[in-house]
Amino acid sequence: MNLLDFDSDFDVVVLGAGVIGINTAYWALRSGKRVCVIDRQPAAGLETSFANGGQISVSHAEPWANPSAPFKVMKWLFDDRAPLLFRPKFDIHQWLWLAKFLVNCLPRRADRNTVEIVKLATESRALLRQIREREGIRYDERSRGILHFYRDQREFAAAVGVAELMRKFGCDRAVIDTDRVVEIEPALAERKRDIVGATYTADDESGDALLYTQRLAAVCAKMGATYLWCSDATALDADRTAQRVHSVEVRTPDGYRRLRARDVVVCLGSYSAPFLRPYGVPLAIYPAKGYSVTIPTEGSNAAPVTSLTDDEYKLVYSNLGGRLRVAGTAELSGYTRNLNLRRCRAILDNARILFPKAGNFAKATFWTGLRPTTPSNVPYIGRTRYRNLWLNTGHGTLGWTMGAGSGHRVVDMIANDDGPVLASA
Ligand SMILES: Cc1cc2nc3c(=O)[nH]c(=O)nc-3n(C[C@H](O)[C@H](O)[C@H](O)COP(=O)(O)OP(=O)(O)OC[C@H]3O[C@@H](n4cnc5c(N)ncnc54)[C@H](O)[C@@H]3O)c2cc1C
Repeated sequence: MNLLDFDSDFDVVVLGAGVIGINTAYWALRSGKRVCVIDRQPAAGLETSFANGGQISVSHAEPWANPSAPFKVMKWLFDDRAPLLFRPKFDIHQWLWLAKFLVNCLPRRADRNTVEIVKLATESRALLRQIREREGIRYDERSRGILHFYRDQREFAAAVGVAELMRKFGCDRAVIDTDRVVEIEPALAERKRDIVGATYTADDESGDALLYTQRLAAVCAKMGATYLWCSDATALDADRTAQRVHSVEVRTPDGYRRLRARDVVVCLGSYSAPFLRPYGVPLAIYPAKGYSVTIPTEGSNAAPVTSLTDDEYKLVYSNLGGRLRVAGTAELSGYTRNLNLRRCRAILDNARILFPKAGNFAKATFWTGLRPTTPSNVPYIGRTRYRNLWLNTGHGTLGWTMGAGSGHRVVDMIANDDGPVLASA
């Protein structure tokens, strides 16, 4: 670890070394900035970016908040095996978030949010390819598209409408029949009779977000980034009158340090909201706990090769070189990451029913992570009431998909000293 002098100066201090923070650091370094990244973990990508669904999925741009959501949420309320579980708490932030979520379910809002996410995700997918080629990073990536399949006629009909909206804004999400489904993903042949329809987005991809984040972090280190690992960002010296943040206080393993920076970017995932609250920056970010199961395929040729989304159970499947990752479900239950075994078993059972010979289910491993979710699913990318305090956070279900593009956008705003003022109290 680099030992820093008290009061070290940087151009940009990035708080958080998840997939969002590391992409931000990368673009800042490319624009010639001196960059320091701070994270409480001993390496990059160890929290929500650790074992996600692996999808680079522009086609997944439809936000959770859409016109059909309130009905579904009511139906699933308190059902332990439901894809979305709401556990009410005495927490004003949870209730405020929920109220905003309901507002975003209005059809016009949902369409506007979908379009905004499609634009950012498309931009991001192209930049991810650029980074991969330029830096020679490998992360068990696959460029075989993403297939969404439906077992419910009504859900499929709704998806056809959303796919049409996405196509208008550049996401080539095609509606396909079941013969084509099996052509694209032979492992679904046995299930063909249950599928009523599907969409396929050939340009979408998949890959291991953790591998990418850690390999890009290594590239950033070579480009000159300073890292402070095992270090908690504890406070900001924020001056409301001057509208500036003068420094960041950090608790490192060697004691407290104060870092001065021209610009500070907050990429703390679900923890961005509590971190910024004392400074009058109210972020509507609430953690949505998700689960993933990783099954070693052990050479099986019956595992799916294309990244899939099973709409009925809201589960995604990605083949990550010798591992089948299955991820999904959302639990609005605060900051706990504990594993609910019923939910783990539900995911494993679904995977086993669909692909019984996909791998060694007895060796499956389970994980949970907290998606930093905004009510609209649109992330915060912009500046705050403090002119040099920037936000790149709240990427919810699509942080892996939107990471490269979000980092690029916020660094562009910093370079031009121009960006929308977000979350003003
Ligand atoms: C089950 C599941 C499946 C998913 N599947 C997909 C998918 O298929 N495709 C997709 O695009 N997205 C997916 N996502 C979403 C994606 O994983 C997240 O949006 C993304 O990882 C968020 O990245 P982040 O950098 O904002 O947060 P994190 O990765 O959580 O990074 C935040 C960092 O901040 C650090 N930190 C927090 N507080 C402090 C502090 N005070 N001081 C210092 N450090 C601090 C943490 O240690 C952490 O490293 C999924 C998420 C889940 C949970």
